[in-house]
Amino acid sequence: MSGNRLGKQKHIALVAHDNRKQDLINWVKSKSDILGRQFLCGTGTTAQLISENTGLPVKRFKSGPLGGDQQIGACIANGEVDFMIFFWDPLTSQPHDPDVKALLRIAVLYDIPVAMNQSTADFLLSSALMESEYERNVVDYYSRIRKEHFGGY
Ligand code: PGA
Repeated sequence: MSGNRLGKQKHIALVAHDNRKQDLINWVKSKSDILGRQFLCGTGTTAQLISENTGLPVKRFKSGPLGGDQQIGACIANGEVDFMIFFWDPLTSQPHDPDVKALLRIAVLYDIPVAMNQSTADFLLSSALMESEYERNVVDYYSRIRKEHFGGY
């Protein structure tokens, strides 16, 4: 990946809250062909369970409640993660809800593909863009701020 361009191989972050982990494991198993051609990473427990259950290599960050979501957010900001599958639990509040919100915000800001449920994940993976390059549209906040505050300088 360079600049705002997503490469042919995606750097995919996998995250699942506890009640959704089995669903994500099952989904990754069912897509292991295509996912095996990408670079995978994930929050601690999710990454460990996925690699144990699928045999795919998954780089491990810290567990979500211990800062893993924030680490992935930093990777998105640095251009090191460019795709995310995040099965969050819509029925349970989390101790790290503020981190979850921050991660989702950063993913939108950097215009990376994000799936938060299985149907979206299925649609994303079946996209022709999955294995081609893609130019993201990241808002240029620096020029926006310059325009708003300094009249275009
Ligand atoms: P975990 O974190 O994979 O370490 O369970 C996921 C999360 O809750 O963000």
